[in-house]
Amino acid sequence: TATLYIVPTPIGNLDDISARAIRVLSEVNWIAAEDTRHSARLLQHFSIGTKTLSLHEHNEDKRTAMLCERLKGGESVALISDAGTPLISDPGFVLVRKCREQGIPVSALPGPCAAITALSASGLPTDKFAFEGFLPVKTQAREGVLSALLDRTFTTVYYEAPRRILDTVTDIQRVLGERHIVVAKELTKTFETYVSGNAQDVIDYLNADAAHQKGEFVVMIGPAKVNEQAIPSEAMSLLQTLCEYMP
Ligand code: SAM
Repeated sequence: TATLYIVPTPIGNLDDISARAIRVLSEVNWIAAEDTRHSARLLQHFSIGTKTLSLHEHNEDKRTAMLCERLKGGESVALISDAGTPLISDPGFVLVRKCREQGIPVSALPGPCAAITALSASGLPTDKFAFEGFLPVKTQAREGVLSALLDRTFTTVYYEAPRRILDTVTDIQRVLGERHIVVAKELTKTFETYVSGNAQDVIDYLNADAAHQKGEFVVMIGPAKVNEQAIPSEAMSLLQTLCEYMP
């Protein structure tokens, strides 16, 4: 039976495409791409001649019905987005869910993803983390979301657009104060940069040069310190002992 393949594509450095991704993209009947013109350059670079059609947030419902029919008719499909892993802050969820409902095989190839790339080199704890996509645009909603991090004891990862990066880091400073954050910029590209420190350190970096606010960003917020105000363990055991003598 025909399969829907989820195929990650590079987030900057074209060498990051996998040998298997090239093979699958070459062998399937259709490539569903977020933006066919954008992906044409990538496909041309790797001499992939497969037919493409668009699947983006505005036509995903309609395209899903059509692609499921083709898959059931025996044609295989690869889903790609403009960059990175499809479905991760990118279209594809509607299609994958429908394929699962209809018993159509779905197979994902591992590959580039900005969140995981940034997190793995950030120096922040990776044993437990939350990926929250993009922050809301409105300040009030943003502050609400950030407030939830006040006593969160694990790392949080956000995507951010260049036009909002300074506002976002300023909001982080207002809501979370001295928290350790890491901002990763232009991953896998020539000017890849990690800025690590508190929000003020990142604001200073962003303001130091007009070029520093350009490009794509992953914003990572470190955990709140655990039990800063915790009762010392000796006091706790004393309390326990005392309790035994209480009526
Ligand atoms: N699906 C993609 C993935 O797997 O990473 C993410 C798509 S989302 C629409 C685009 C966002 O990902 C950007 O705004 C930025 O936050 C992040 N991003 C993508 N490429 C990046 C890069 N090379 N460096 C830093 N962040 C990147």
